[in-house]
Amino acid sequence: MLPVSSLLYSQVLVLNRLWQAVHVCSARRAFLLLYQGSAQVVSTDPANEYATLDFPEWLQHSQDYGGGDVVGTVARRVRIPKIIVLRTFDRLPKKDVKFSRQNVFERDSHTCQYCGSRFDRAELNLDHVVPRDRGGQTNWENVVCSCVRCNTRKGNRLPHEANMRLLRVPRKPRWHPLSAFALGPQHDASWRKFVDVSFWRVELGDAA
Ligand SMILES: [Zn+2]
Repeated sequence: MLPVSSLLYSQVLVLNRLWQAVHVCSARRAFLLLYQGSAQVVSTDPANEYATLDFPEWLQHSQDYGGGDVVGTVARRVRIPKIIVLRTFDRLPKKDVKFSRQNVFERDSHTCQYCGSRFDRAELNLDHVVPRDRGGQTNWENVVCSCVRCNTRKGNRLPHEANMRLLRVPRKPRWHPLSAFALGPQHDASWRKFVDVSFWRVELGDAA
């Protein structure tokens, strides 16, 4: 069993009033929204899938329920929800997609941007299109996914110097709340009905 502190940072999917996935928050934040009456829990139990429960109902349910991740005491335990739905229209800040190794792999669909082959993450590198010691920056516009072989072949050169071509011009991804980025690799299976994980690639296609 995980300690309570880490359970409170479990990820909870947030739906807006139209039941569109808009956000992922911590369980701690979800409890606050539920407690304030700003959100309801969306049940993911097969018996009453997608039933909505307000906080008192969820507390009662947590008492009756036998399993899952719970916090609190035996006498008053609360089950960690997987999905909540907001009851008010919220204005979510438009966040930038974080520049990270994982997100570059996602943007490029785990495909080497030189040879076009797909690889496992372990076999992929990040390549600076303009090498760092020639002034290339570490950002969305200059870093692409590359296989070890192409990376070695290119070495410390510009693509055309190595007689290589990028599949497409690397760009900073546009934020979309439904993107797979928001989910991360360990999202809960119950989220999938609300999140189109392929959306991201479709959007990239439009931008290319
Ligand atoms: Zn390659």
